[in-house]
Amino acid sequence: MTSLTYRYVALTDTGLRRPHNEDSGYASGRLLVVADGMGGAAAGELASSETMHVIRELDRDLDIDALAAMEHAVDSANARLGALIAEDPAVEGMGTTLEAMLWDGEKLAVAHLGDSRAYRLRGGVLEQISTDHTFVQALVDEGKITPEEARVHPHRNLIVRAMLGRDDNAADLSWIQPMLGDRYLLCSDGLSDMVDDDVIRGALGAETIDLAATELVRLALEGGGYDNVTVVIAEFVEKDSEPDEHLSSSDGQPQLVGAAASQPRPRTGKGSSKSSDATRFDPEELRYAPRPPSRMRWVRWALVGVLVAALIGAGGAFAYHWSQKQYYVASHDGKVTIYKGVPAHVPGITLKHVEQVSDVVVTTLPQYRREQVRAGIEASSKSDAQQIVANLSQFAVAPTPTPKPSPTKKKSSKTTNSVWRR
Ligand code: CA
Repeated sequence: MTSLTYRYVALTDTGLRRPHNEDSGYASGRLLVVADGMGGAAAGELASSETMHVIRELDRDLDIDALAAMEHAVDSANARLGALIAEDPAVEGMGTTLEAMLWDGEKLAVAHLGDSRAYRLRGGVLEQISTDHTFVQALVDEGKITPEEARVHPHRNLIVRAMLGRDDNAADLSWIQPMLGDRYLLCSDGLSDMVDDDVIRGALGAETIDLAATELVRLALEGGGYDNVTVVIAEFVEKDSEPDEHLSSSDGQPQLVGAAASQPRPRTGKGSSKSSDATRFDPEELRYAPRPPSRMRWVRWALVGVLVAALIGAGGAFAYHWSQKQYYVASHDGKVTIYKGVPAHVPGITLKHVEQVSDVVVTTLPQYRREQVRAGIEASSKSDAQQIVANLSQFAVAPTPTPKPSPTKKKSSKTTNSVWRR
């Protein structure tokens, strides 16, 4: 059998609708990881980055079987989250997905937990090799809905298993035997929710994996960019093949992206003294993978502009004028509403006003969309804002005050150990 090695790339983007990136991604010659945090911005970033820091401990010479090492690392990461939650009740409910592959020189030890995915492209055929730990996947498995229905199901973001700092959510552990030419994609749902598998297949087959990563992220943004999107790709090549100097992995350095790359530390003082996991790594040895061109982060700019407005006169007038040409979608009296202006607060200046109130009631939206509205969704123009409202209305469901009685009511959100995606 040909001796194999792989080339790798990790890429992430905050997406178009969220202010923060709660995903973390990692790729090196030994380890591939995606962790998609949840539980509120700060907690989600903390969960994903802390998990990443613990899992990255695997990126070294191992004296035990790779799958046993993986299992141990998953347990350690889970214990780490549990300890952080015990220290700071404010982060209760935080968690993360985990998709990780550890190369032992012959095969990959794989851990999977949550709704991040692993795909394999082999001979032009794309196969999803992980099984989503989601409510809708359970319905598909039971034959109650089709995979197509799952894609648009209002509860498709409901995860039934994730890393939550408790001992009742085990990861799926398995071995994979790669073959020459295989490409593996690890991704957060910010990709798989936005882009169909057929399209992923085409993009993953790009000339190089660096191009594939850029294209996949671009497609997720084009598809709406509602979520943070992270892709990690590995391509198996002959061990003694010449390194391709055009590829980002040709320098052999690990690539760390997303929340873990900004290394947020626990917010409590007592937490920081115990967090030795991350400090064992020298941030200087890491670098960011190449990124697609960044887009305007308008909320940040608006805040800067508004601060300028408050501080200086003439430039401030310009910033104020600019801010009044912006639109966003948020809640007003419980209805999805288009606002003109920016959702910032400066004493004495009105920066926003209601432009148009829709009849979409916020509470009829799935929780994920509801929280998006409550946080405010930026729009590039009034017509874009109207399109956002139209899109949201598709997700609205009529309130169902009395659940239908069911003789075999097995599932209830209290017993399924579920967590809502943000
Ligand atoms: Ca996500």
